[in-house]
Amino acid sequence: MTIPGTDQLHAERYRVVASRDARFDGQFVTAVHSTGIYCRPSCPARTPRETGVTFYRTSAAAHLAGFRACKRCLPEATPAAPSGTCARTSPAARCASSSTASSSATASRGSPHGSATPNASSTAS
Ligand SMILES: [Zn+2]
Repeated sequence: MTIPGTDQLHAERYRVVASRDARFDGQFVTAVHSTGIYCRPSCPARTPRETGVTFYRTSAAAHLAGFRACKRCLPEATPAAPSGTCARTSPAARCASSSTASSSATASRGSPHGSATPNASSTAS
C-alpha cells in the first residue's frame, strides 16, 4: 500500500536533493540504502537513485533507522537542527543541566569507597 501524498513528497524531496538546494538543510535528511549513510540535501556527493533513498525529518530518525552521518556534509551539524528545544518550549523551565550538575557533584562526594570491592575475588573460589 502506497499513499499518493507520500510518493509526491518523496519526489519533491528528491528534486531538492538532485538540485542540492541548501535552503532545505535541516528540514530533512537523505538516507542512502546502498551506503547506509544519510546526508543533508546540499551534500556534494553524487545523487543516488530515487528508489534507493529514504527521507527522514531529522538526522536522529535516520540514525535510529541504522544509518550513519555522512562525513562530507555532516548532517548532524546543520544549523537548523532542533538543539535548543528545551529553551523554546518554556522560558521559565530552561534547561535542567544546571540542577543536574549540582546533584551529581553531591552524589560523587557522598561515597568515596563505592568503587572498591575487595571481596570479589575471594567469593569466586
Ligand atoms: Zn553527505
